[in-house]
Amino acid sequence: METDSDIKTTPRGFHCTLCKVNLPNMPSLEQHVKGKKHKTLSSVRATRKTQEEHSVFVSGIKPEISQTDIAEYFEQFGPISNVIMDKDKGVFAIVQFDETDSVESTLSCIEHRMKGLKLRVKPREKRAFKLIDKKTCDPQQVLERLKPQLCQQATVDAQMLHVVQQFQLGENEKKARGLVVQLLQEVFVEFFPDSQILPFGSSVNTFGIHNCDLDLFLDLENTKVFQARAKSTIEQTGEGMSDDGRSEDSILSDIDLSTASPVEILELVAAILRRCVPSVHKVNVVSSARLPVVKFHHRKLNLQGDITINNRLAVRNTRFLQLCTGKEDRLRPLVYTIRYWAKQKQLAGNPGGAGSLLNNYALTLLVIFYLQNCEPAVLHTVNQLRDMACEEEECVIESWDCTFPSQSIAIPPSENTQDLCSLLAGFFSFYAKFDFASSVISVREGRALPITDFLSQNKEEEAMQEEKPSKTQHHGPKLGALNLLDPFELTHNVAGNLSERSQRSFQRECQEADKYCHCLQYQRKSTKGKSWGLVRLFTPHGDVSHTKTEQLTISVPFKSVALPEVLRNQLHMAGDGFRLLWFQKVCSAVEGVFQTVLRCHLTPTDAVFGEESTVSVPEEMDTSAASLNTSINTSQPGADPPSAAAVGVKRSLSSSSDTSVSPQGKKPRLAKRGRPDLPHWTCVLKHKVWAGRRKVRRELIKDTDSRPEGSCVELESKVTAHIMEKEPELKEPMEFKVWPQMVGGTESTKAVLKFEPTSDKAGVFQDFYHFLEAFLLKMVDTLLEKQAQST
Ligand code: ATP
Ligand code: MG
Repeated sequence: METDSDIKTTPRGFHCTLCKVNLPNMPSLEQHVKGKKHKTLSSVRATRKTQEEHSVFVSGIKPEISQTDIAEYFEQFGPISNVIMDKDKGVFAIVQFDETDSVESTLSCIEHRMKGLKLRVKPREKRAFKLIDKKTCDPQQVLERLKPQLCQQATVDAQMLHVVQQFQLGENEKKARGLVVQLLQEVFVEFFPDSQILPFGSSVNTFGIHNCDLDLFLDLENTKVFQARAKSTIEQTGEGMSDDGRSEDSILSDIDLSTASPVEILELVAAILRRCVPSVHKVNVVSSARLPVVKFHHRKLNLQGDITINNRLAVRNTRFLQLCTGKEDRLRPLVYTIRYWAKQKQLAGNPGGAGSLLNNYALTLLVIFYLQNCEPAVLHTVNQLRDMACEEEECVIESWDCTFPSQSIAIPPSENTQDLCSLLAGFFSFYAKFDFASSVISVREGRALPITDFLSQNKEEEAMQEEKPSKTQHHGPKLGALNLLDPFELTHNVAGNLSERSQRSFQRECQEADKYCHCLQYQRKSTKGKSWGLVRLFTPHGDVSHTKTEQLTISVPFKSVALPEVLRNQLHMAGDGFRLLWFQKVCSAVEGVFQTVLRCHLTPTDAVFGEESTVSVPEEMDTSAASLNTSINTSQPGADPPSAAAVGVKRSLSSSSDTSVSPQGKKPRLAKRGRPDLPHWTCVLKHKVWAGRRKVRRELIKDTDSRPEGSCVELESKVTAHIMEKEPELKEPMEFKVWPQMVGGTESTKAVLKFEPTSDKAGVFQDFYHFLEAFLLKMVDTLLEKQAQST
């Protein structure tokens, strides 16, 4: 068989190397070989092979030489079937003859001279025919293709523009999408009179890339009106025909749009798609999404589509993004570059829409927020835009103010003249130092709001709701690792899906990128053809979460959502001083873990962090916001510290880039290792209280499921006591020191505990430290809860 060499036997059947498909058995293999795809590819390959054998590669020509000049010259060796010129620069050509003999005589000619030029003629390179499948285009391959193109550019700005050119939707792709929308509109209007289908999201928001999904909103508002009218006509006349002649025997007779649930309506939409729209398959209703959606695939265009109803806000926020790009040319190159960087670093892009990474919409809003905070601002805040709109442009959707000018001409230009290269570097630097844990990002206001404003908000609102229920009552946003408010739906955290891990990775990658952007390699083109500029930013790498210096630190992140309600309220009251208050509570809890739970011996003079009896707060420092502000240095080079800016705190002009305090509010200059003169705990352990805890715990309660590790202080203390009683002492007690430090303001708020073993003759500190990494965090949460209950 001609195709034999394309078929390989595999442990699971066969693999066709030409079409890159697996075939489980002989019948499917036979069918495949007879099929259209395999036949087409075989014939394309045969044609290519013939072309290669019939042609020569000619270089040394000049741009002014035309196709006809080349054909006229090479005709002396035999009839020519085609001349292909290199389109961009006109420096080489491929000349294809009718006969292979002509190739031979061309190559045997020693010198080729034409119009004063000396031409170089070579046999055409024989390349293995490979199927480039756009669908499964390997990101690595995409990057490999992109790298040399980027390196060729003269500046980082040019590289960024090239990224846009490479990834943006082409005119034909846009047209094809438009045709799908048109087709769907024609079909849906048959079933849902007066309905409208509107595209939104990346297909139309000016940030679309090849193969991005097609987001559609099916607007059924007019259909509802139509249905209500038709119903009342039927009731009045008793006839089954509406006034405009449409039969009651339509799909609308099966469903009452005013009472049906979104999922019921979407089931109907799915049925229409399956039955009536050509080339559409894989139709599924996803009811678990925040907004239920019908997903489908358009086979011919290889396009993933999503149809939602009740999604007018998304159509509006798409319009907002269009307005921003209409006003600011630098936005698109920035967003495309940052989207690609984030994709390469696995920070954004959730397959199928669900996942714990940033979605592209959230990422775009982060770029916009950064541009609002540049000095001078590149983009206006949404509130400013609202004020620029005229009366006719007023727009309220679901009681949210979505007003902004319809034309970008109404918006004054920015005074910021930074180039793309420095804006991109600025983005990384901005988020590298951003205190995500204590901020709520508001694109509406163009500033970060302090998280304390939101800590007791939900409760207050619930109480109000109970007192005076109203339909338009909005609840506070779902707080999470990254809080980013939608510009219009102000109670929606568009990054609410983000896991802590994803947030940490995002910030860590920003820090890495920030460092890189300070190197010459970023800004200056390599003269030796090495990678430079964007190339390294786009290179994926492994997890860099643990560097050596971080190995002996345990960080307790400020997780506003997970805090007990009493503590949330206290922090809310503390306003801008919430960090120190929280830090003191954490220190008290950490001390409780060492002293009460693990029965460490704490040196009395060092036990100064406990909140109740042991905490030592200097006299000049009460816990009021005003005095705490003087203790916490929230300075941040380049950008305002969000929480401080939000409450108008006077900031120190110190050049320090870190907001860190000891439990007493002093600003420590903690080097890699702890400083003995700063507050710390000295702990002594005489037993391996970490070893075999699970077994002892199980024995003590005989029901592990109901009491997971770290969930109960009394139980964990008993486990320790049991181990101390039953197990022999360490030959030499182990001693270690712990320096607590609070950071925040210029990075995500957290308490960092630095450990240093000072006496470890038994060599057990590492085991203990690994145990603590998980145990300490769980116990701190439990103790914070306990402290809150006793308040
Ligand atoms: P891409 O499809 O290329 O990932 P996209 O901008 O289309 O980018 P989608 O996740 O498909 O992103 O979302 C489509 C649109 O839906 C967004 O442009 C936005 O208008 C809206 N949207 C998406 N996610 C959210 C969200 N979390 N909150 C509010 N609106 C959202
Ligand atoms: Mg989309």
